[in-house]
Amino acid sequence: MAYTYDDGNIFARILRGELPNQTVLETEHALAFRDIAPRAPVHVLVIPKGPYVSFDHFMAGATPAEISGFFRAVRSVSETLGLEPGDGGNGYRLIANTGTDGVQEVQHFHVHVLAGKRLGPMVSPDV
Ligand code: 5GP
Repeated sequence: MAYTYDDGNIFARILRGELPNQTVLETEHALAFRDIAPRAPVHVLVIPKGPYVSFDHFMAGATPAEISGFFRAVRSVSETLGLEPGDGGNGYRLIANTGTDGVQEVQHFHVHVLAGKRLGPMVSPDV
């Protein structure tokens, strides 16, 4: 499978420090920051530092250390923000939009962490 990563995408520019962001946390393998147009009271984006277009690209091309580091960072966001139900939080939703049908707008793999209220239906019911 061939993937073309455009290093001019907005998240690549954020990683290079060319655009500001509201950082929630940063690790060796990931950066988590507030979405510029939040869809929930808590809306954080978690991105790997490597140049991966999509979830598929990330899983195919990233090292085991990058993959575990990334998903541990997602977990650290929910923990840092007090969202984990096991720790008294009210929970959250993770979303990774992928490709055309997934309506992925920014072509650098990212996971949305949404929380802070009871979220609506996962998708519109008109299948
Ligand atoms: P997608 O549709 O690709 O899954 O989500 C992309 C997300 O990136 C959107 O929720 C959008 O609001 C967010 N976004 C787009 N541009 C910027 C930006 O410059 N800064 C931040 N923090 N978020 C952005």
